[in-house]
Amino acid sequence: RAKMQQRTGHFYFTRCMGVEIRERVRMMHALRTGFAKGELSVVYQPQIDLTTRRPVGAEALLRWRPADGEFVSPARFIPIAEYSGLIIEIGEYVLRAACAELVRLRAAGHRDFTMSVNVSQVQFRHPVFLEMLRTALDDSGAPPAYIELEITESMAMEEPDLLIQMLADVKRTGVSIAIDDFGTGFSSLSYLQRLQIDRLKIDRAFVTEITGSARGSSIAEMVIQLGRNLGLSVVAEGVEDERQAQILQALGCPMAQGFLFARPMPPEGLYQWLSENAVGV
Ligand code: C2E
Ligand code: MG
Ligand code: MG
Ligand code: MG
Repeated sequence: RAKMQQRTGHFYFTRCMGVEIRERVRMMHALRTGFAKGELSVVYQPQIDLTTRRPVGAEALLRWRPADGEFVSPARFIPIAEYSGLIIEIGEYVLRAACAELVRLRAAGHRDFTMSVNVSQVQFRHPVFLEMLRTALDDSGAPPAYIELEITESMAMEEPDLLIQMLADVKRTGVSIAIDDFGTGFSSLSYLQRLQIDRLKIDRAFVTEITGSARGSSIAEMVIQLGRNLGLSVVAEGVEDERQAQILQALGCPMAQGFLFARPMPPEGLYQWLSENAVGV
């Protein structure tokens, strides 16, 4: 049966599977040609120090706008890029763009500024990842100490020993590691301690809850406390209003990002925003 599927391949796949899969196959082709045609771009969302309200870095986020349509959410096309293997090339593109942008930012005087890049687990576990990372760092001249890779908590839960080894290798390049969407998975604390990570990102869901109910802030509070105990930096994501920012600050959360401060922006927008919000540049 498997053999037959293999032989008929694409035909079998598109003809007999459901609409959802057919749509995904369509998107996969559109993504592949779109990427080749330059339809993908990278936007940057500032991260700020909650106490000073000044920018300390930015997260690089992928955007795809097909020539004939509206923006497609990364939440939709990243899984397709992962599934098709295209994420290897796309991920390299994002990393290189982010490294180049960091170099430009530093040249423009933003020298204490970190750049965070999302890394999919398919990409991270690929045998060429480490070499790709080293080459991208070398080619761009971006200082690794100012580059951070974001991996998700769900990814941290699979094959613990392999991940511990991978992280050790990646850390040797000098970049730092953040656990993205922290609090949405169920990684054990003892395991977390064995990972060479530098930062936890509180998932937006828990930031939203902060102002929701009496116990709404309990998870955010726990992550901030955990960060403090483990000596990790903490960033709250998806901060949309001033009350959330104030509660987070009161809870001792050092950093945040969200629409309250700035939306993800193309490079020109980021420079404009920085000229209005950074000090001493
Ligand atoms: P993420 O890494 O957790 O990124 C944060 C998401 O929250 C981004 O959505 C950002 O635009 C959005 N966001 C930031 N502040 C706010 C806010 O105040 N309110 C709300 N409602 N949303 C806010 P985006 O850009 O659509 O990306 C979604 C996800 O797609 C990312 O979640 C990440 O998992 C993935 N992604 C994006 N770019 C890349 C990439 O270059 N590589 C990989 N592997 N994944 C990526
Ligand atoms: Mg992220
Ligand atoms: Mg996140
Ligand atoms: Mg998130």
